[in-house]
Amino acid sequence: MSKPKILIIYTGGTIGMIRDEVKGTLKPFRLQRVIKSIPSILHLGIELHAMELDRIIDSSNVTPLVWIELAEIIEEYYTQYDGFVILHGSDTMAYSASALSFLLENLAKPVIFTGSQLPIGLPRSDARENLITTLQIAALQNAKGQPMINEVCIYFEDKLYRGNRTHKFNSENFDAFLSLNYPILAEAGVHIQVYQERLLPQSNAELVVHTKMNTNVAILKLFPGLNILPYVQAFKSAGIEAVIIESYGSGNGPTDEGFLGAIQELVDNQIIVLNITQCREGKVEMGKYETSAALVKMGVLSGTDLTAEAAITKAMFVLGKTENYAERGRLLTQGLSGEMFG
Ligand code: ASP
Repeated sequence: MSKPKILIIYTGGTIGMIRDEVKGTLKPFRLQRVIKSIPSILHLGIELHAMELDRIIDSSNVTPLVWIELAEIIEEYYTQYDGFVILHGSDTMAYSASALSFLLENLAKPVIFTGSQLPIGLPRSDARENLITTLQIAALQNAKGQPMINEVCIYFEDKLYRGNRTHKFNSENFDAFLSLNYPILAEAGVHIQVYQERLLPQSNAELVVHTKMNTNVAILKLFPGLNILPYVQAFKSAGIEAVIIESYGSGNGPTDEGFLGAIQELVDNQIIVLNITQCREGKVEMGKYETSAALVKMGVLSGTDLTAEAAITKAMFVLGKTENYAERGRLLTQGLSGEMFG
């Protein structure tokens, strides 16, 4: 049997950084150094190839253009590889993994993001374990010789997560990610335990790579005392086409006329309003309380249990896909890639 072929795509992030002795800050360095730090990755029984983006970045500088570039790279090399490992900074990894999960429709191979909290060259770095196990998971095959994982994931500190369910919750611990509304897909201990029943099913349809994202998206977190009016004016004059409201609890917001009138104004202007919750766990259930009943009547959409990262990138994807208001609403409230309940 031939060895699984995996392509590593290096985008930047702490995993490949070194300290700039002059400025004292962390800056990216090149892939060859990453591989030199872990020579054992060349002995995993995997045929490994690697490439890097022209511009290596700290992930705080990621943009939708980088997501599209990654999607296009995967499209170009899709038939040549059994899986893809993307080395990426952890800060915005949840956004990038969410975005790729929408851009790569009918994905039938693993696309796994990983990175680390400490640069690869440091003695206590988490990079070594993260990279080696990610490669091993990306190379897993079923009895028919097909890739076992068919979706965009994040692997970090022993756990494989569905990418569009993740949130970076800790800036210091090696265990930096959470996926509170969907269980982990696999766990690495002495053995790698894959929870098959939690994985997305194998798609038989051909891969469709989308390359359009519309960034006319805004997010507004409710807080007691919020004066929403200036935001509504700003959204309108900036040409915002979708506003994500991070509401309270199961999708609740104030019931005063000022607030409801402002939301109505957005909807009347055919600006999509998508309701997600500030709670990290649980979902929006509009109409459960009086404080969300009016929102349903106005045509505010329920984002059920979407993370903010998934809601933002899904909105960019859907706005890029269609200009039709009703169709936008339909796509946003429907699960596209395992990102939401229902
Ligand atoms: N600032 C870094 C980045 O996101 C942090 C990391 O790599 O984890 O690129």
